[in-house]
Amino acid sequence: MLGLMQDRPMMISSILSFAAQYHGDVEIVSVTADNPRHRYGYADAHKRACKLANALQRYGVKLGDRIATLAWNDYRHFELYFGVSGIGAVLHTVNPRLFADQLSYIFNHAEDRLLFIDPQFIPLVEQLGTQWKSIERVVVLAPADKMPETSVDGLISYEEFISAESEGFDWPEFDERTASSLCYTSGTTGNPKGVLFSHRSTVLHTLTVAAASNMAIMPHDNFLPVVPMFHANAWGTPYITPTAGSKMVFPGAHLDGARLYALLEEEKVTMSAGVPTVWLGLLNYVKEQGIGFNHLQRVLIGGAAAPGAMIDSFEKDYGVTVNHAWGMTEMSPVGTIGNIKRGHADKPQEEILALKRSQGHAFWGCDLKIVDDQGNRLPEDGETTGDLYVKGYFITSGYYNNPDATSEAFDKDGWFQTGDVASIDKDGYLRITDRSKDVIKSGGEWISSIDLENLAVGHPDVAEAAVIGRPHHKWDERPLLIILPHDQDNPPSKESILSFMEGKIAKWWMPDDVAYVSEIPHTATGKIQKTELRKTFADFKFS
Ligand code: ADP
Repeated sequence: MLGLMQDRPMMISSILSFAAQYHGDVEIVSVTADNPRHRYGYADAHKRACKLANALQRYGVKLGDRIATLAWNDYRHFELYFGVSGIGAVLHTVNPRLFADQLSYIFNHAEDRLLFIDPQFIPLVEQLGTQWKSIERVVVLAPADKMPETSVDGLISYEEFISAESEGFDWPEFDERTASSLCYTSGTTGNPKGVLFSHRSTVLHTLTVAAASNMAIMPHDNFLPVVPMFHANAWGTPYITPTAGSKMVFPGAHLDGARLYALLEEEKVTMSAGVPTVWLGLLNYVKEQGIGFNHLQRVLIGGAAAPGAMIDSFEKDYGVTVNHAWGMTEMSPVGTIGNIKRGHADKPQEEILALKRSQGHAFWGCDLKIVDDQGNRLPEDGETTGDLYVKGYFITSGYYNNPDATSEAFDKDGWFQTGDVASIDKDGYLRITDRSKDVIKSGGEWISSIDLENLAVGHPDVAEAAVIGRPHHKWDERPLLIILPHDQDNPPSKESILSFMEGKIAKWWMPDDVAYVSEIPHTATGKIQKTELRKTFADFKFS
């Protein structure tokens, strides 16, 4: 017997319609190339998303067509999030930091029809556009009088593209499993793989992550997503914030510590989200200046492991609550969030901080399991580590047009293999110890490169740290610690770093050597690129 409840499909368009109706004058503030501070409300955003939807249909965009963007976080990109998906087309957000051949691969693989692009990225089209086979037209996210000078033919300004259209649009309802957006994960080897989200998965992820037990975003919050809208849908925050009716602050292109700090203060931002490298820049800036935050209350840190010293500094030095989160593009992307559960809240501060250093706890909608090499489930005792698998309402069921990658990514019961190695404790707190390809196997036992990195960056003279395994005659592999010092001319000695680490980890985990670099390579999504470091240190031998 079926229930007698309305079977209304979950549509992304309903999120913006709701915000327009009930939070219509709540501000969306943006820094764009043509305006240092653009302001309007959710009602205006909705009107312009309607104009865009009309313009796309007039152009001939159909259900399932892919529409690409190469753009920073701002209000026009936000309108695309709803205007494109709202008509049943697929918003394909592309990471402009990818390498040329990856960009060409992605555009051609996705077969995008239109490309909406920030003026700063026009040089990319000039250089590579002829290799992008399917793109019919490029729309520049700028007014007609601020169009860039370029040799590219047939460009049109976004404002001109939507100008003649009506501010009204009847958002269609269709199967909620319809594809809504597409995002390629950079991966460290091979070609990028497309994750194809649906309206249903997006709405369910939005509801779950927004919940008070998870992200807990409230109407009084002023939220600034540092995480780019071209990376895993900015962790879903462009959908989450309008449901809460919170003010949105889009930071545009420039996110060094000084500019980010200024924007946080001027727009009275209470909550923000981004990867550890961004917070490192911000914390260094406030430390150097001897200043604090007047409005910032919470930061969501994810995308890579947040070092304990960073969490401690936010919480203890600046009174900013940290929620450490873990996930992947394939998971929409949030899979765990670090809130303190009932029963832990009264613990001493040090114990609470230890919990906060974990990647957070499991929440409804995303199931976790750890398994051994044979796929047997391992105990969730907080000690045992194994390969981490996930299953749930907003987890991918396969890569877009990529049967090979799909066939490798799931176990026989349909659980998705994350490629991470982790432990889970009895309360569901997850601790990621490594990417499976980065673990260091010393004498058959695993050493967590992430734990060593997080510990090393706690040293006051270390700006960034990476650990890779290098061959060892006796133990197969041993850890090499690679350091980027704060002061290149005055780096901390090997002895000072190792004695700082001593006693805080098992003795046999101690790095066998320390190497110094002037730069640590990062992937397009801000993660340490260990493949590059392995190449750089290919000839390294422990003495
Ligand atoms: P990419 O496109 O680089 O794959 P993702 O954001 O999808 O980008 O990467 C997901 C991976 O990032 C995870 O599998 C995990 O290895 C790492 N990661 C994300 N958040 C955390 C975290 N809080 N701690 C440790 N690792 C993390």
